[in-house]
Amino acid sequence: MSAPGPSDVPRDGGTAEVAARLHRVRTEIATAERRHARPAGSVALLAVSKRQGPERIRAAHAAGQRLFGESYLQEALDKQAALADLDLEWHFIGRIQGNKTRAIAERFAWVHGLCDLRHARRLDAQRPLGYPPLQVCIQVDLSGEASKAGLPPEAVAEFVTACAELPRLAVRGLMTLPAPSETLAEQRVPFRALRALRDALATPARPLEVLSMGMSDDLEAAVAEGATLVRIGTAIFGPRPAD
Ligand SMILES: *Cc1c(COP(=O)(O)O)cnc(C)c1O
Repeated sequence: MSAPGPSDVPRDGGTAEVAARLHRVRTEIATAERRHARPAGSVALLAVSKRQGPERIRAAHAAGQRLFGESYLQEALDKQAALADLDLEWHFIGRIQGNKTRAIAERFAWVHGLCDLRHARRLDAQRPLGYPPLQVCIQVDLSGEASKAGLPPEAVAEFVTACAELPRLAVRGLMTLPAPSETLAEQRVPFRALRALRDALATPARPLEVLSMGMSDDLEAAVAEGATLVRIGTAIFGPRPAD
């Protein structure tokens, strides 16, 4: 990972531009909900603000956005400090490093991308008492590439059971980050698989109701297949410097 830095933005933080883009994304989600027979408002929007400066997050907040996703821990902590006056909900969506779990446990409401039981145990132990449990989604690798982050589908049941023993974690659902593909039909395949896996594992006590799937380029496919939360960066904030 290279050092974080805010992207090159206009002096006003691109406030009007961010508001306009955010409005477009909300419209796109609403359209997809209608087109695919999803109830209006059933898909939450997580604004992925990695590599964006705090002024752009402020602009999105001013336009009504409250959920923000960050991938790089130190960069996120710096922005949280700069934005402490706002009521924001922070989601950690990056790769977890075992020696950095404490800050994640203390400074985020949600973690998407949990797939290592050692990390789960550390986050549980480090989640401050008096805070609500850390809300987590378990990352599933549906591409079959061993290089990708996430558990193979056949390992998820056991992982969910193990996490259920950890009282300071609340397992809320599944997350996936598929390799890019071109057509809507192709994009739907891994999202459909994630939903099927969730349906197979859900119980009344553990509904795994959250499906964290869909980014700027495959939002509609994700909504079509049952996403309850889409993680959108570029479509809201514009292009960012390479990660
Ligand atoms: C960067 C990132 C996103 C957002 O991607 P965009 O294509 O910019 O919408 C979503 N999820 C994760 C895990 C990411 O790292």
